[in-house]
Amino acid sequence: MINLTFFLHEFSDNNEVYKKADGLRPDIGCECELSVKLKAIKASDITIYVSGTVEGFLTLECSRCLFLYRHPISINVACEMKFNGDRVSMADEIRELAILEIPMKPLCSEDCLGICPVCGRQNKKDDACACQEPSKNLQADFIKRKWEDLFNKTKRR
Ligand SMILES: [Zn+2]
Ligand SMILES: [Zn+2]
Repeated sequence: MINLTFFLHEFSDNNEVYKKADGLRPDIGCECELSVKLKAIKASDITIYVSGTVEGFLTLECSRCLFLYRHPISINVACEMKFNGDRVSMADEIRELAILEIPMKPLCSEDCLGICPVCGRQNKKDDACACQEPSKNLQADFIKRKWEDLFNKTKRR
């Protein structure tokens, strides 16, 4: 992410240096596409103060319905950075900020109810299929009948 590197010489004429990069896809453990806007102000001979925004989306798998969805992110950057030789690279900083945005339980939408085990439809709170969830009831009925059979058999003896 060379576009996100500030060089010492850039501050010789200007007190403020701007960097902008679109369509960034840093390796953060999931697919993503980020736009970064940064402004740096020289804070001392060896440090700059960087502020700006990171916006874009992560492609995540919903933890309820397992569909891939675009998870929007919008991060404010505000940090002091030290020169490493003649430059400050913001690449790692941006990467770490983006990784922190990956939720523990990704949800395609707050009201996602997951996938119906009967018809396979992706259900939402106000848009759900009419299937009953039969699995547990059927299983319970089956076990109840088995017990009754067993009970009747033992009684007859
Ligand atoms: Zn979902
Ligand atoms: Zn259904």
